[in-house]
Amino acid sequence: MPDLKTLYDIRQSLHKVPEIAFGEVKTQEIIINELKEFTSLVLTRFEPTGLLYEHSTGEGEYILFRADMDALPITENTGCDFTSEHNGFMHACGHDMHITILIGLIQYVVKNNLKKNLLFLFQPAEEGEGGAEKIIKTGVFNKYKIKSAYALHITGAYKTGSIAVKQGIMLGIPQEFNVEITGKSSHVATPQKGIDAFLAGMSFYQEMMTLIAKRFPAQEPILFHIGKASAGTVRNIIPETCTFEGTFRCLKTEVKQKIINIMETVAESVEKSHEVAVKISFLCSYAPVDNDENLTNHFVKNIPADIVLHQAETSMIGEDFGYFSQLFPSVMFWLGTNSTEDLHSSKFLPDEKSIDVALEIYKCILQQD
Ligand SMILES: [Zn+2]
Ligand SMILES: [Zn+2]
Repeated sequence: MPDLKTLYDIRQSLHKVPEIAFGEVKTQEIIINELKEFTSLVLTRFEPTGLLYEHSTGEGEYILFRADMDALPITENTGCDFTSEHNGFMHACGHDMHITILIGLIQYVVKNNLKKNLLFLFQPAEEGEGGAEKIIKTGVFNKYKIKSAYALHITGAYKTGSIAVKQGIMLGIPQEFNVEITGKSSHVATPQKGIDAFLAGMSFYQEMMTLIAKRFPAQEPILFHIGKASAGTVRNIIPETCTFEGTFRCLKTEVKQKIINIMETVAESVEKSHEVAVKISFLCSYAPVDNDENLTNHFVKNIPADIVLHQAETSMIGEDFGYFSQLFPSVMFWLGTNSTEDLHSSKFLPDEKSIDVALEIYKCILQQD
């Protein structure tokens, strides 16, 4: 049984040094330091900051547990006494908790010399930089036969002592994109000499919203969103450029491809009708988190009796554990933690007691699986 006070201390140390995608250097150091006494573990490192610990006790299949490591460029406003020492950065998505839970699990496994083949992945860059995909592409998992993979994400939506899970797609596909429209500037008094990129941008956005509404069944969940737009320079000049930063969300790969096709078709049409150039860049995207039916059933049946189980809703939040769920039978679940604030809020401060709850569940998986 790990010393939970120590785990709380580890969590506080991690919380103080939030680091963003692929910059998790101090975070990595803390993890390595906490686990260095466990010399039976085989460590594989991934550039720049990923860590995979292997606990093998003979031939056979492996179970993979994954925790993400990165923080966010948000200024902490929790007022807690272990607040971020990195100005402008914060563990606002609770990945400090995820790391701590995995460290606690490893301590338990090694100290009890558990006769199981297990992999523990500390994964960098979950927040929009695709850390999971990068590690999978190294081929590191090809040498293992992995029978199941598990991850959790803390949430303020449920109380400490409760979790939520669902079979099938629990978290959707996010696809980030930029749109750059180039026209020609001219004085407002001579509109015939210019090409208004802003006007073209409005057409693009309007046409996209119309087609998203018309090309899919009403029950197909899709979000198409532009969160940042900019155009023009001054009041009386026709804008030469218009740029959008946006994201769309859906649940199926084929729907994602269809939306991309529609965007490209609309871009061509706007180019012709407005005589502008439209460039679309498709940026980060994740696979959906698709919980395996049998594994989730098994997981749910074996939840310890003192833990409250909720049926999770399908959410349009993206999580790059999705890539693991495409490769191995997987379960990801929400871990309740008393917080009135949402994930990514500058006031998000999860209850450290949910570390104990997560460990109870993970240990139960190890006893059953
Ligand atoms: Zn997040
Ligand atoms: Zn997160």
